[in-house]
Amino acid sequence: MELTSGTPFWLTQHGLPPHYPTLNHDLACDVVVLGAGISGALVADALAGAGLQVVVVDKHYPGTGSTSASTALLQYDIDVHLRDLRQRYSDADRADAALTTVYRAFRRLGAIAEELGPDAIGYQSTTSLYLASKRSEVRELALEAEARQQIGLPSHFLSEADVRTRYGIDRPGAILSDEAAQVDALRLTLALHDRAARHGTRLFERTEVVGYAADAGGVTLTTAHNFQVRARHVIVCTGYETPEWAKGIRVALKSSFAIVTEPIAAADRWPTGCHLWETARPYSYARVLPDGRVMAGGVDIPFDNATARDTLLRRRTHQLETHLHELLPRMPLRVDFRWGGTFGETADGLPFVSQHPRFPHAWFALGFGGNGIVFATLAAELIRAELVGEPTGEAPLFAFNRPGL
Ligand SMILES: Cc1cc2nc3c(=O)[nH]c(=O)nc-3n(C[C@H](O)[C@H](O)[C@H](O)COP(=O)(O)OP(=O)(O)OC[C@H]3O[C@@H](n4cnc5c(N)ncnc54)[C@H](O)[C@@H]3O)c2cc1C
Repeated sequence: MELTSGTPFWLTQHGLPPHYPTLNHDLACDVVVLGAGISGALVADALAGAGLQVVVVDKHYPGTGSTSASTALLQYDIDVHLRDLRQRYSDADRADAALTTVYRAFRRLGAIAEELGPDAIGYQSTTSLYLASKRSEVRELALEAEARQQIGLPSHFLSEADVRTRYGIDRPGAILSDEAAQVDALRLTLALHDRAARHGTRLFERTEVVGYAADAGGVTLTTAHNFQVRARHVIVCTGYETPEWAKGIRVALKSSFAIVTEPIAAADRWPTGCHLWETARPYSYARVLPDGRVMAGGVDIPFDNATARDTLLRRRTHQLETHLHELLPRMPLRVDFRWGGTFGETADGLPFVSQHPRFPHAWFALGFGGNGIVFATLAAELIRAELVGEPTGEAPLFAFNRPGL
């Protein structure tokens, strides 16, 4: 499946990633990571850092799947409200624990960025403004901000007047999250693969895994060219492209669209350059790149047909421009890049970081929505803890069979 349409910005900006070899022999290791996008990179980095012998294989080039299409906003605010999550689970503690784990993963990613050097990966701290699209949603936002505060998240309700005075935006209310960040998804992925390589990880590109077999001691994966990788564990980080042998494990797929404008002077943008997003579904959102370009995305549609997505690219990205213009009427908007990508989300807005009875010795790090990069960090931490024998007890929160799905 083609995961992207149009011209994903990061690939255009940086060109194809560096060359890695293709696997042309059998090998053995502790852990094989399947997929070299941001999820595979975070997992490989965490496991290699813990002293495990790691091999990463990808059927394309590292980072050129959904990761290259990502607008890479980093937030602990997930798409499902905490209050809705509490209701969905009929268990406030479970909902609170899940969101707290997401917040910790967001902060862990900040620490990783510090280690890698924020400038090298385009990482910037910012804030996030979640706007009420309709007046009838204002009360819910106020209650949601309160619920998030109760579990220690730095979120505050802003009134219509606050939103207008501070941001020059005309919306009836908002939640301001004091902590958010943004990154260059492709550079982050490559920097993590680099660091994992320094810890001994071997990465093989253009190496498709077509077969999985498990026995008491581990797994044997077979590549399309009939080489075998023997490992104690496999971590499946194939994003929205579940391998043929694991069909049946997948989330509902969508297509999401994005644009990047020409650079816009700071005085013509919204103050602070915080993330903007909204309560409307499907939502759209915006961030500012280091050179002053505005990157916006959203207007998702529930299908994953790559050809149809190509056809719809112009229409959906025009819709994005219209949304942005309506939100920020005085901001000059000239679009330089447009693209679309495959996307998926779970009913409760949280990822699958899980084992599965049909696939012994395998962990899946899948089902990522609008917070895919933070969720991948969560997956990496959780799986690392499990494999080094220090389980945190959080795995059931993100299991395939959790309640409320
Ligand atoms: C338009 C768009 C905007 C987004 N915006 C955001 C955002 O603002 N913030 C955020 O956090 N998230 C965002 N996301 C989501 C985020 O980008 C994804 O969750 C993330 O990139 C998924 O990374 P991944 O490594 O899991 O998947 P991918 O990057 O798709 O990597 C999976 C890899 O697995 C490989 N693979 C698949 N099958 C096999 C096989 N059989 N053998 C070998 N290799 C295989 C593929 O070649 C691919 O390279 C966005 C996504 C899109 C499309």
